[in-house]
Amino acid sequence: MSLSDPASSWDGLAQLRSSTLTPKRESWIDVNPFTVRLDLHGDLDFFLRSGARRRSIERSLGEKTSVKDVIESCGVPHPEVDLILVNGQPVDFDYAITGDADIEFYPVGTGIPQFKKQRLQTATISRFVADGHLGKLARDLRLLGFDIAYDPHAEDRQLLTVMKRENRGLLTRDRRLLMHAVVETGYCPRSQNADDQTVEVIRRFDLLHSLAPFTRCLRCNAPLRKVPKAEVIERLEPLTKIYYEQFRRCTGCGQIYWAGSHFSKLQKRLEKIRANCA
Ligand SMILES: [Zn+2]
Repeated sequence: MSLSDPASSWDGLAQLRSSTLTPKRESWIDVNPFTVRLDLHGDLDFFLRSGARRRSIERSLGEKTSVKDVIESCGVPHPEVDLILVNGQPVDFDYAITGDADIEFYPVGTGIPQFKKQRLQTATISRFVADGHLGKLARDLRLLGFDIAYDPHAEDRQLLTVMKRENRGLLTRDRRLLMHAVVETGYCPRSQNADDQTVEVIRRFDLLHSLAPFTRCLRCNAPLRKVPKAEVIERLEPLTKIYYEQFRRCTGCGQIYWAGSHFSKLQKRLEKIRANCA
């Protein structure tokens, strides 16, 4: 029925009146309001509005609500939460809050040792899709050998599709996107600096022992393969032909790489990142 149909409009209003007056039907008005106290641990207060950053929050609720929705209503995306305790007991994201409760939640890497088995996030993932604002981070992670899907023009829907189809973690500073129900594994870099973001991602996903620098194409993300100089010599500049012997070629776009003038600068950056991750 269309909304312009007067009969359907009045029917709807009659039903609404009936539901507010008849206690047997479950609705928000039938539930006594209750209070939840939320304690944020680690750096999760990063997601609270600036100026409002604090470790404890109180919320009044008027209806049964999943603990995931309660936590996200504070601005903290669920992929950032690794352990939830309700009144001291570990629960998963679907746990329903129906009355007064103390809710504590922890990011990855902190928490209480005895609840190791109740962790909510995947232990390790090393393939990611990065949103369009994280180009430098995507490039740095590729430089370190990680498989990073990145398209500067990708829309949110495309990012989520690639994430699901290719079983990748989502890297984005858009907390709303990270809250999307289909996101299982993801991370919001806290820093706006690419070097710091790289360190954050390596720490968050425990990737320090998986670094394989200079093995992946910075342009297209495909792996690089060593190639004899004779095979690529036609494409080299005269001085490159003279000074360099070792070459790698991208298996995707054909780009040729060698340890040229920028190489030592890149190595210094990598050493710095490694030192900061340790
Ligand atoms: Zn390539």
